[in-house]
Amino acid sequence: MQTANTLDMLRTLTATLRKDGSTLGLVPTMGALHKGHLTLIKAARDACDHVVASIFVNPTQFGPNEDLDAYPRQLEEDSAMLEAEGCSLLWAPTVEAMYPQGFASSIAVSGVSANFCGASRPGHFDGVATVVCKLFNQVQPDMAFFGEKDFQQLAVIRTMARDLDLTAPRVEAIIGVPTVRESDGLAMSSRNRYLSSEDRAAAATLPAAMREAIARIADGTEVRQTLRGLEDALLGAGFSQVDYAQLADATSLEPLEVLGSKDARLLVAAKIGGTRLIDNMAVNPA
Ligand code: AMP
Repeated sequence: MQTANTLDMLRTLTATLRKDGSTLGLVPTMGALHKGHLTLIKAARDACDHVVASIFVNPTQFGPNEDLDAYPRQLEEDSAMLEAEGCSLLWAPTVEAMYPQGFASSIAVSGVSANFCGASRPGHFDGVATVVCKLFNQVQPDMAFFGEKDFQQLAVIRTMARDLDLTAPRVEAIIGVPTVRESDGLAMSSRNRYLSSEDRAAAATLPAAMREAIARIADGTEVRQTLRGLEDALLGAGFSQVDYAQLADATSLEPLEVLGSKDARLLVAAKIGGTRLIDNMAVNPA
């Protein structure tokens, strides 16, 4: 596996990989890799001739009081994991390479980014959309792979790609990969390492309470009442704050009061021991 730290180097190396008509799959990450990320690498490897992974802790998607400085950085370890997974190229730019002096542009995707993490983390999705658009332009992948773990992020990226003509033939496909979970159901996340052992044990309440809420909604219990019960279960288990626990249309991400005939998603963000966890699960139509 080769590593590019400058845009010139990236362009040279991607041109070499593409020389014989080979396809490139892009997996954008912020590093601190775990099995969830590696599943995206595997999906890209299965679908494309070469995998390009990026590691960039993107400052513009962090709010002023968020964990940008504390976010785990372990490039050497990540690099070894990517190489072992069959990744061909690692794009690891510096902040200055991504946002040179005078950088003045931003992409805002309205609608799908309005609620949920868009409401509780103002500016977050502008930062995500802008950096992913840059990554698409820099790497020019045939396919790009994102986790359903960040379901709203996936919707924002799909919308941006459609609206700004970044889709086929430029990026042939944007692939959503199902969430990889720990054995107790907690969605894998680079932020799980912030949890104390007590909070880590309590964090498993999140997926368990979500499953229970989904079963209740499927049984016809009122959505609002069920979601209130879900919030109470989290607060009772040691979560300090629930940013949101909502049912939404799986495509538009419009909040839903009742489960209709279209695919829905249960989306939750909650804090435990100062760490903000997010999760989402499919809710089948009534
Ligand atoms: P991050 O490094 O957290 O920005 O995540 C990079 C990519 O990995 C994003 O597309 C995430 O949605 C995806 N990802 C993170 N955690 C998981 C997981 N547990 N299962 C599947 N994909 C994940």
